[in-house]
Amino acid sequence: MKKYQHYINGEWVDSTGSETIAVVNPATEEVIGEISAANKDDIDQAVAAAKVAYESRVLVDMNPMERAKLMRSIADELRKISKDGGALLCEENGKLLAASEYEFLDAANYFDYYSGLTDKIEGQTIPVNNQVMDYTLYEPYGVSGHIVPWNFPISMLARSLACSFAAGNSTVIKPAELTPLATTSFFAQAVHNAGVPKGLINIVTGYGIEAGAALTSNLDVAQITFTGSVKTGKIILHAAAERAVPAVVELGGKSAAVILPDADIDKVVNATKVGIFSQAGQICSAMSRMIVHKSIKDEVLDKLSELAKSIKVGPGNEEGVDLTPVISEEQLQKVENYARSGLQAGATAISGGNRVDRKGYFFEPTIYADVRPDMTIAQEEIFGPFLSVLDYEDHEEAIHIANDTDYGLAAGVFTKDVDMATKTAAKLNGGQVYVNSWFTGSIATPFGGYKQSGYSREKGQQAIKSYLQLKNVGIQL
Ligand code: ADP
Repeated sequence: MKKYQHYINGEWVDSTGSETIAVVNPATEEVIGEISAANKDDIDQAVAAAKVAYESRVLVDMNPMERAKLMRSIADELRKISKDGGALLCEENGKLLAASEYEFLDAANYFDYYSGLTDKIEGQTIPVNNQVMDYTLYEPYGVSGHIVPWNFPISMLARSLACSFAAGNSTVIKPAELTPLATTSFFAQAVHNAGVPKGLINIVTGYGIEAGAALTSNLDVAQITFTGSVKTGKIILHAAAERAVPAVVELGGKSAAVILPDADIDKVVNATKVGIFSQAGQICSAMSRMIVHKSIKDEVLDKLSELAKSIKVGPGNEEGVDLTPVISEEQLQKVENYARSGLQAGATAISGGNRVDRKGYFFEPTIYADVRPDMTIAQEEIFGPFLSVLDYEDHEEAIHIANDTDYGLAAGVFTKDVDMATKTAAKLNGGQVYVNSWFTGSIATPFGGYKQSGYSREKGQQAIKSYLQLKNVGIQL
């Protein structure tokens, strides 16, 4: 079995400890590789290397155009390995092969996009009085620590790393223990081949409770970025507060699509397919709830039922597959429990509700109707191919139901009436609102949550500000 290593200070190394992490292919339940689990010593070493690299000012003092060029070299290297890296990512995560390859291309695009900002980190001059010349500078924090989830191991890593690097920070990345292989091997190789000076980018994986906690509590980590569950996000925010360092957090969601009576139902069906069945629903901004007007409920449910029947379940590397496995047995059981609890609470299964009778962590495309707002399946993030359909009569009631959860990551509205679309979008609590579609964003569009879904914004130009601190300089003339 192939053994993988951590990437610290420009070299691939084992952990100093003896514990290993066996990585399982969710489609076959077979172990495909292992990596030694990083402990506190390993994390401390990586942070120390990042600190030395930062203090050498190799990146901070690099001409912005050179920094941009280096980032574009990383992008080129990522594109070169997208096929092989994608194949490994598909095996460890279970997602579609095309989506796995795309993660490397997406990562390359993040480096290209943020390379364009290296020479646009501009301060201001501020009039104080004619005896003082005052100006501001944006400076990096130093060592930035990133804790990455397993659902987009490469894209999400690149999302924060490209920003952090463009800003001039050194970075230590802790990939999720379920999906560390493509990151520590292919991604690290791309960084290495691009000629990134040692210590600027370090990738060390281990269990959250040990390696993740060691990273967030290390006194030399000056800024933290986390994407994952609300529960873990709160632990990380506490750790950041303990040391008074800033944290970027992008947490979970329970995003609702509100379907108005005049909606184009084919668009609703298409959005459902990508919104909740792509990547087996394991996307923080997945369309996990639908709130449909009573007058069209039967028609919508008929078409959704047809959709579910048309969905082909299978491994990510098989031709024509729509629905891939969930990440682990634990996640599968969690989804199963929600399915059971939904029926017990009085929901009606339009489709699915069970694990698929085959090897691998496959769950049926699941759509439950007659869901009431107070049911657990309408409130909690399931992170599986599971859509809860609720219905409403009055528009304000629909808005109320949509906003009535602890989350506020995404929301959507389906209508042909632009006026109603904008009015509804204004009232929905969500960092992003999609109209007549789902996942309309790009690297250039800000992404983040309202309420417990987090408060930071990633992507887009303003995200780089999270990796910069502001200095004011006053000169007595
Ligand atoms: P999920 O519950 O979806 O598996 P988590 O939000 O727990 O996801 O994990 C996302 C990332 O956070 C992973 O890299 C995981 O190792 C890390 N993590 C988990 N617990 C902690 C912790 N206490 N401190 C720091 N990182 C953690």
